[in-house]
Amino acid sequence: MDKPEDQAKRPPFDCQRCGTCCQGRGGIFLEPEQVPAAAAELAMDPEEFTLAFCQANNGRWEVLVNDEGFCRLLGEEGCLIHEAKPEICRRWPFFVNLLTKPYAFEEARLSCPGIDPDISYEDFVAHARAQGYGE
Ligand code: SF4
Ligand code: SF4
Repeated sequence: MDKPEDQAKRPPFDCQRCGTCCQGRGGIFLEPEQVPAAAAELAMDPEEFTLAFCQANNGRWEVLVNDEGFCRLLGEEGCLIHEAKPEICRRWPFFVNLLTKPYAFEEARLSCPGIDPDISYEDFVAHARAQGYGE
């Protein structure tokens, strides 16, 4: 059993890079100016990167999914472009929905092992706000 001081070290959110949230069709986009950094994570040039992982969609690059519905940028140890991942991936789990609806937060906590299982909704919201995530 953890000592109280060990428990205190658990951050409200610490992504375990399990990939659970990387399944689902559509919704993951890179802005054109974000592509060079993402490509650099894989030592690819931007054109090579978009050809392999994206399709053009209304002036942005939509990241493709594989046959099982997982993002093509998901590797065996998590996101292949972790340091340059899209804004929506970077923002999770501090989405407006989770910060305003306790039941949405509870559902997210059950599916995402990165969220401290013991944190209260109130503390989660307070932490998010302290990080600059508003409603
Ligand atoms: S489900 Fe949570 S822990 Fe797993 S990759 Fe997504 S954010 Fe990270
Ligand atoms: S870009 Fe990375 S973090 Fe975002 S869905 Fe794809 S694998 Fe997951």
